[in-house]
Amino acid sequence: MSYIISQPCIGEKNSSCVEVCPVDCIHTSDDAEQYFIDPEECISCGACVDTCPVDAIFPEDEVPEKWTKFVAINASFFNG
Ligand code: SF4
Repeated sequence: MSYIISQPCIGEKNSSCVEVCPVDCIHTSDDAEQYFIDPEECISCGACVDTCPVDAIFPEDEVPEKWTKFVAINASFFNG
């Protein structure tokens, strides 16, 4: 299981999560609207959750229903 970055990150891109992730699996690009967690690399430690100022990060199986599409969105960033 991975953690997922969802809707509140869009336009925020605070990046505090990137600084605490022990496996450096949170990435973005200049033209992307948000950060993404690589589901293949995430070790589900949860360290990123509390650092997020907009509460955008959830365990994959606890993503609010309205934001479940972000599970695929996070994965697709790394699949090209
Ligand atoms: Fe990184 Fe841990 Fe957050 Fe996964 S849960 S993205 S490993 S800080």
